[in-house]
Amino acid sequence: MDYPLTVQHIFNRATRFFPHKEIVSRTETGMRRYTYADFGERVQRLASALTGLGIQPGQRVGTFGWNTYRHLELYFAVPCMGAVLHTLNVRLFTEQLEYIINDAEDQIIFVDADLVPVLEKAFGHIPTVKNFVIMGTPTEVTRLSPTLDYETLLSYSSPHYDWPELDENDAAAMCYTSGTTGNPKGVVYSHRSTFLHTMGACLADSLGITESDVVLPVVPMFHANAWGTPYAATLVGAKHVLPGRFLGAAPLVEMIEQERVTLLAGVPSIWIGLASHLERLSLEPETAQPDLSSVRIVPCGGSAIPPALMKTMDRFGLPMLHAWGMTETSPLASVARLSSHHLTLSESEQFAIRNKQGRVTPLVDCRVVDIATGQEVPWDGKSVGEIQVRGPWIARAYYHDEANNEKFMDGWLRTGDVATIDADGYLQIVDRTKDLVKSGGEWISSVELENMIMAYPKVLEAAVIGVPHPVMQERPVAYVVAKPEFEGQITPDEILDYLRPQVAKWWLPDEVLFIEAVPKTSVGKFSKRELRDLYAAQKSAATAS
Ligand code: ADP
Repeated sequence: MDYPLTVQHIFNRATRFFPHKEIVSRTETGMRRYTYADFGERVQRLASALTGLGIQPGQRVGTFGWNTYRHLELYFAVPCMGAVLHTLNVRLFTEQLEYIINDAEDQIIFVDADLVPVLEKAFGHIPTVKNFVIMGTPTEVTRLSPTLDYETLLSYSSPHYDWPELDENDAAAMCYTSGTTGNPKGVVYSHRSTFLHTMGACLADSLGITESDVVLPVVPMFHANAWGTPYAATLVGAKHVLPGRFLGAAPLVEMIEQERVTLLAGVPSIWIGLASHLERLSLEPETAQPDLSSVRIVPCGGSAIPPALMKTMDRFGLPMLHAWGMTETSPLASVARLSSHHLTLSESEQFAIRNKQGRVTPLVDCRVVDIATGQEVPWDGKSVGEIQVRGPWIARAYYHDEANNEKFMDGWLRTGDVATIDADGYLQIVDRTKDLVKSGGEWISSVELENMIMAYPKVLEAAVIGVPHPVMQERPVAYVVAKPEFEGQITPDEILDYLRPQVAKWWLPDEVLFIEAVPKTSVGKFSKRELRDLYAAQKSAATAS
C-alpha cells in the first residue's frame, strides 16, 4: 500500500496503544506527571488553538523552550496539523536569533516564561511573528506583544482535531545549524525523513529505544530535535522524563534515581560534569551514594567522547554509546555498538571500538574520501579522508540556499569531518577539517591531543586549538581546566611531561594555558572559536604591556 510515513502515525499509535504510559516533566515546583492519554488530548487542543489563530499548513511555528511536556506537545501538534515545527536555540546571540526567525518567517513563537526576557531582545526586529504564546507564568511584565497564555489557549480549544491528510514529503520540522562559520543554515525535515529516522533510532543495534525504557534527553529539544528521542520514545510508548531547565549534575542524579531512568542522551560536556560530581561524592563515604543502577545506556555525541570520560562513566555503571551525526543528518548517522565477533576481544580492544564513532545506521550510506584525489580511501582504519553520507534522512540542500553545492555534491553530503574507516566499517573521527592543526605541512588532531590530556588524572577538561605560526603555519596550544580538587596544583610542564612519551615531538603543544572552564557553544560543545579569540586577545594584551 502507498501508506504515508508521517508524524501523525507516531501520535496515533502512541495515544491508542499506550494511554497509561507516563510523561514526567521537571518544573519549578517539582515533577509534573500525566499520561499519554492526557498528552493526546492536549495535543489536539493545541492543534485546534493553532488553527484558531490562523496557522496554515506549511507555515512555521517557532518554539523557544527547554525540554518540557509543553514542548513535547508542540513537537506533535504542529507537524500533525500540517505546519512546520521550528525549534529555536535559546542560547543564540540576539542577531542570530533574529536572522533565523526572519529567514524561517515564523508566524508565532511559543516561549517558556523564564526565557521571555531573552526573546524580548529580538522584539521589534521579527516582523513575521504575529503572536507570542507564553508557557508558564512570567515574573515580570513583558514587552512582547501580543501575548497569549498557553494554558488559557488550550482550555478554550477543542479536544478533538481531525488530522488532515498529509503528503509524507511535506515539511514537518526545521532546525538551524549553530553557524560557526557565517550565518546559521536552515535544515528542513520532512514527515518521511522524520519517520524513517525515528525507526532508525529504535533499531536494536542503533539507540534501541523500547517500550520499557525511561528516556531522559539532556540534549536540548532545540539541538537537532533532541537527536530524535522525543519521536522515538513516543513511537514505542516509552516513559518520558523531561528535565526542563534543570541540567546540573545534582538534579539529573535525583531524576535518574526517582524515575528509574534507563536511557540518558547528551553531549560529552554534560557527562564530564556528572562524572566529576559522582567522583566527588564517592570520596565522601559518609554520604549516601546515588543508585543509578536503572541506567542501561547513555547515547552520547555532538563531539568525540574522551576515553577517560567513557572509562569513568563505565566505572559508575553508566555505559556510554558513542553516536555521530549533525543537524544535516537529522542527526543520527552512526552508532558504535560492538559486533558479535568483537566479544572475544580483550576488554581494552573492545573499549577502543566502543570509543570510535561506529557504523552508519541502516539506510545511511557512507564513504570516506581523500579530498585531494576525490578517491575513496581504503577501509584499513588508517587512511584518512572526509566522511560523506547520503540517505533518506540526510538533507539534500539548505533552506533558502538550494544553490549551495559546496556542501552537497553528486547526491552526497560533505560533512567536513575527517575520519578513518576500518575493515568492519567503523568510522573514527580524527577531527573537524577546520579544527585540525596544520603544522609544517602535516596535520595534528586536536581531538587526539585533548583526549590524551583529559586522561591525566588531575585534568577535568582540555581543548586544543591551532594558532598562527610564522614558519609552521599553525602550532597547537592547549587550554586546560584542573579538577576542582587540583586547582592551582598543576603545571604546564607536568602536562607536557605526561604527553611526551605518548606523542611525536612535533605534536607537543607550544603552550599549555590554564583556564577556569572551557567556553562552550550554544549546544554545549567546546567552543574553539572563542578559544581562538581568547588566545588572540591574550597575545595582543601581552605585546601591548
Ligand atoms: P554544529 O555544527 O553547530 O556543532 P551539529 O550539532 O550539527 O552543530 O554538529 C555536527 C558536528 O559535530 C559534526 O559534523 C561533527 O564534527 C561533530 N560531532 C558530532 N558527533 C560527534 C562525535 N561522536 N564525535 C566527534 N564529533 C562529533
